[in-house]
Amino acid sequence: MPWYRKLHWQIIIGLVLGLLFGILAAAQGWSGFTSDWIAPWGQIFLRLLLLIAVPLVLASLITGVASLSDLKKLSRIGGKTIAIYIGTTVIALIIGLVLVNLFQPGATVPDEMREKLQMTFADQAQAGVETAASRAEKSPIQPLVDMVPGNFFEAASSNRNMLQIVFFAIFAGIGLLMIPKDKSKPLLDLFESLNDLVIRMVEIIMLFAPIGVFALMADTITSIAGDDLGQIMELITALGYYCLVVLAGLIVHMFLTYGSMIKFFTPKTWGEVARALAPAQLVAFSTSSSGATLPVTMERVEKELGVSEEVSSFVLPLGATINMDGTGLYQAVAAVFIAQTIGMDLDLTAQLTIVFTAVLASIGTAAVPGAGIIMLVIILESVGVPSAGIALILGVDRILDMCRTVTNVTGDATVATVVAASEGEFKTAPVPA
Ligand code: ASP
Repeated sequence: MPWYRKLHWQIIIGLVLGLLFGILAAAQGWSGFTSDWIAPWGQIFLRLLLLIAVPLVLASLITGVASLSDLKKLSRIGGKTIAIYIGTTVIALIIGLVLVNLFQPGATVPDEMREKLQMTFADQAQAGVETAASRAEKSPIQPLVDMVPGNFFEAASSNRNMLQIVFFAIFAGIGLLMIPKDKSKPLLDLFESLNDLVIRMVEIIMLFAPIGVFALMADTITSIAGDDLGQIMELITALGYYCLVVLAGLIVHMFLTYGSMIKFFTPKTWGEVARALAPAQLVAFSTSSSGATLPVTMERVEKELGVSEEVSSFVLPLGATINMDGTGLYQAVAAVFIAQTIGMDLDLTAQLTIVFTAVLASIGTAAVPGAGIIMLVIILESVGVPSAGIALILGVDRILDMCRTVTNVTGDATVATVVAASEGEFKTAPVPA
């Protein structure tokens, strides 16, 4: 097959063209045209992915759990998955903290720019602080309460409630394991065929990905820059060093942490995994949402890496909702950067507090665009940095969101591969990437 017919190349072409079109549109003052005529195609692509996320998680997780031979296996896989998720998040946070302390990006922002940023983004920052405050008022174990749905249809009606769907599916899967086979078979057959249907639907949606990604990129660029490209250039100059530190951290974590996990704990190579995951990473980059990317991640991990459905259907939806290494790393860098910019010194205890709160915050971060910066407010407050400081970084947040979402999705897929390897859960003949 010629290279340009491969899906990931087509998506890359869509992405680059979208980027170029966005820059041109901002320079020429076409942002109205872009939002009226280009952006809707991106929205359609995004909605198609979100449309199948809930049925996919439900069908694959119920079949996955119900096909396990016993509950011991479920708790073993569950325990292992959560332990690795937390472990990798802590490593990501440490990488972020080491880099931000080493390179001190906050020391490079001129006073004048700092004041300007604080003024320009004051309203947006205030809105973020208020959203975070309404969360912080609740009980510390509220996330546990939020995991349990009070009404199935309510849970299934919002992609923000994915964890509730995961809870319901595991619960229903366990129930199915406990009733006689002849009684559970009709339901299992139904979910199995629903699962096959949804995976096929993902493949169809992905044919539209190059256009969807083009539109999403063009829209993102014009909405950040408006009709004034100079403004985005100014922001990138002022915050460029900070962005580079976050990006360096994300790259180090992906290559070093995930690369070593793949090398030492799975029969795959990093190259194979990266090739298989490329379409999911590109969708993550252009949607900034690990929730919307989940169907693509699941399809790639099962079909291209050969991870069994039993493992992927459990590890990936859980990961998309609770495992956010990229977000954690970014939050650690951002918290210290804001402190550095306003001349505050964070000692070791404060930085350890960041690690602790960021692990919890990244679990509680919704898998949607911009969720990470809301949870950052909680981290800032835990170490006494004024939360209005998020105004300093809001201007470049979308760009970093795109990048951290790629890390989040790669982390979930890496852990699924490691867990599958440790359980001997690879399908015998995975389709080559
Ligand atoms: N957009 C990220 C995700 O969906 C979350 C965040 O960091 O804002 O994974």
